[in-house]
Amino acid sequence: MAAQIISGKTLAAQVKERMTGETEALKRQGVTPCLAVVLVGDDPASAVYVRGKQKDCEECGIRSLLVRLPAEATQQQVLERLAALAADGAVHGILVQLPLPRHIDERAVIAAIPPEKDVDGFTPVNVGRMVIGEECFLPCTPAGCIEMLKSTGQPLAGKHAVVIGRSNIVGKPAAILLLRENATVTVCHSRTQGLAQLCRSADILVAAVGREGFVTGDMVKPGATVIDVGINRNAEGKLCGDVDFAAASEKAAFITPVPGGVGLMTRAMLLVNTVQAARMQARA
Ligand code: NDP
Repeated sequence: MAAQIISGKTLAAQVKERMTGETEALKRQGVTPCLAVVLVGDDPASAVYVRGKQKDCEECGIRSLLVRLPAEATQQQVLERLAALAADGAVHGILVQLPLPRHIDERAVIAAIPPEKDVDGFTPVNVGRMVIGEECFLPCTPAGCIEMLKSTGQPLAGKHAVVIGRSNIVGKPAAILLLRENATVTVCHSRTQGLAQLCRSADILVAAVGREGFVTGDMVKPGATVIDVGINRNAEGKLCGDVDFAAASEKAAFITPVPGGVGLMTRAMLLVNTVQAARMQARA
């Protein structure tokens, strides 16, 4: 039997509707949530992502501010712009679009975002809070994965979750959030031995590798839930994930598509974090 599709489109639309309502309520209290996006250089893919984020904000009534700096901007200049945004009471969320030009130290830039405005959840303070289970901004992609898993109505507690990938922005935080949901978590990476076997034992399989067709049908346990984080281009230039969707759908009970899956929920979770930032700063 073919798997049920977990639609990022449907779930993201629900989140956006909720965030539109919350933004209206905040505006009635005199607060307009505002996200500042810092874009350094002219990487075309980054520009597309940033436009998408601005469009999402607009749809929900959130103000967005684009701060553009040339590719040759110095690290000091980027840090100065961040300091100005940090001090600006009308700006609630700050996001630095990655990757940054090579001459800029990404870690130093991220660390310069005040934790209360870090809507990407990438600063060491927010990562630390996430790990110890304190209230914080959760990184958007893994948080979106958890929302998608919860939407199936299947309990996560006690399930074996296998995460393929251990990057700081996807794999590692996905593993932490699954652990917070009381799943039993295995994290796989390029040095893992017996990866296919581990995947076959997964009730929940999260693929965040960045390689087309990495997860084949025989790696999926019958009845599993498969979350495909990968965004790749195939030989025909079409967007595809890390999972062989057709084959995995035959085995899984639930599966996310690419496109139309995790990517859309990632964008939606940024709106959630921005509204949360505005709400918290309005209270402070
Ligand atoms: P990274 O390249 O930072 O990490 C990839 C991970 O996959 C690494 O941990 C690496 O292991 C692991 N890996 C690579 N090859 C193998 C292998 N042969 N066997 C097992 N593990 C392997 O990528 P990201 O985490 O940033 O992104 C992963 C994918 O998700 C990409 O396609 C990216 O485009 C997509 N993405 C999608 C988002 C969305 O919104 N849907 C958001 C962010 C990313 P090791 O650590 O050992 O090198």
